[in-house]
Amino acid sequence: MSESIKSVEKLAIQGGPKTKTTPFGTGKRFGMEEVKELVEALEQNTLFYHNGDKVKTFLSDFNSIYGVDYSVAASSGTAAIHIALGAAGVTVGDEVITSPITDQGTLVGILYQNAVPVFADLDPHTYNLLPESVEARITPRTKAILVVHLAGNPCDMDAIMTIARKHNLKVIEDCAQSYLTEFNGKLAGTIGDYGCFSTNDFKHISTGDGGIVTVNSGDEEDYRRVHAFADKNYQRFGGAVNRGLSYLAPNYRMTELQGAVGIAQLKKLRGICDRRHANGERIREGIAGVPGVHAHDITRDSWSSYWFYMLRVDESKLTCTRDEFSAALAAEGIPNSAGYIPTTVYMSEMFQNKQAYLGSHYPFELSDAEYGEGLCPNAEEILRTAIVLRPNEFFTSEDIESMIIAIRKVALAYAR
Ligand SMILES: *Cc1c(COP(=O)(O)O)cnc(C)c1O
Repeated sequence: MSESIKSVEKLAIQGGPKTKTTPFGTGKRFGMEEVKELVEALEQNTLFYHNGDKVKTFLSDFNSIYGVDYSVAASSGTAAIHIALGAAGVTVGDEVITSPITDQGTLVGILYQNAVPVFADLDPHTYNLLPESVEARITPRTKAILVVHLAGNPCDMDAIMTIARKHNLKVIEDCAQSYLTEFNGKLAGTIGDYGCFSTNDFKHISTGDGGIVTVNSGDEEDYRRVHAFADKNYQRFGGAVNRGLSYLAPNYRMTELQGAVGIAQLKKLRGICDRRHANGERIREGIAGVPGVHAHDITRDSWSSYWFYMLRVDESKLTCTRDEFSAALAAEGIPNSAGYIPTTVYMSEMFQNKQAYLGSHYPFELSDAEYGEGLCPNAEEILRTAIVLRPNEFFTSEDIESMIIAIRKVALAYAR
C-alpha cells in the first residue's frame, strides 16, 4: 500500500472525515464584576471622567500593572495613537515611519496631524518592523517611529530604540494587539516615549471602545501635554480648570462607563493573556517542521500574548495555493482567513491616490514618500501567503490539538 507510506488521510474537502466535529470553547467576557462597577459609576451621578472615580481608578490600576507613573485614557486606540503623536510634536510635513501591515487606526492620527506615513519592511516571519529597513527610510523630515507590535508579538525594541536615539526620533508603540507582551524583560508600551492601547471590543480586554496612552518619560510636563491633547486642551489639574486654547487638540475623552468596565476587565487581563500565550505556543510547537507551513515566529527574548496566530504557507513545497489550503482547513472544521488585511496599507486607495482629505493631496505633497507595489516586498509576500487563526482564551486544549491535527493533515495531503 503506497498510500500508507505517506499515510495521507482523505481531506474533508475531498469527502473524507472532518477533523473537528465538536464546537470550540466559548465563554462570557463580562459578568457581575462589570455590572457592579457600572452601577457604582451611575450612582456617582456623573459620567464625566474628571468628576468621577472610575476612569481614574482604571488608570491607576493600569499604571500598577505596567509600572508607569502616568497614563491617559482615550476614546479609542486610534485616538490614543493620535494623542501620542500630538504630544510627541508630530506636525505638518513630518514623516512617521510605520508598518505596512496594521489596522488603519495606526495611520489616522499621522494624517490628522498632517504628517506623512512612510512604510518600512517587515521580518518575514515575526511580521514586525525590520530595524534596518526603518533606518533606511529615515529622511531629514522623519520625526517619529510608530512601531506596531503585531498580534501580541513585540518588535525588536533594542534595535529600534538605538536607531531612534541615534537620529533623535520619538518612538510611539502601537500596543493595540499586544497586552502584557514583553521584549527582553520589559513590557511593550513602556519602552518607547509613549505606548498606545485599545480597549475596542475585539482586543484582549474590552470597554466597548476606548484607549490608553502611557507617558514613559515619567515627566509631569509631558503627562500634562498628553492629558490636554485628549481633552480639547482643557488643563484639568489641581484647582481651577484652565480653558486656554494654546493649540489644536481634539476631544478624545473616555467616559466613566468605559472606565468602570475597564476596572473589571483589567482584573482578567493576566489570565486572558496567559491562556492566549499557552494556546499560541502550543500551535507553534505543534506545527514546527511541518513541510510547506511556516509557524508564527516570536521575536527573540520575548513573550507574546497572541492576539491572533498567523502562519504562512510555502507554495513551493505544496501542490495547493494558499487559498486552497485555507479552504481545506475550513472544511476540516477550523475557521481561518486567507490573509490578514486585503493589501499592504500603502496599496490601499487612500495611499495610491495620495488623498487623505477629499479634494486635496495635502499632506502627501509635502513629502517625497512613494507608495508603489514592491515598496515592502516581505510585507507583500506575508499577506499573499498568510493564514490567520483566531484561538481565544476560551479555546480548550482539545480545540488547540484539533487545529494542529488539521493543519498537519492538510499540509501532508498537499505535500509535494
Ligand atoms: C485595533 C487597532 C487599532 C485601533 O484601535 P481602535 O480602538 O479600534 O481605534 C490600532 N492599531 C492596531 C494595530 C489595532 O489592532
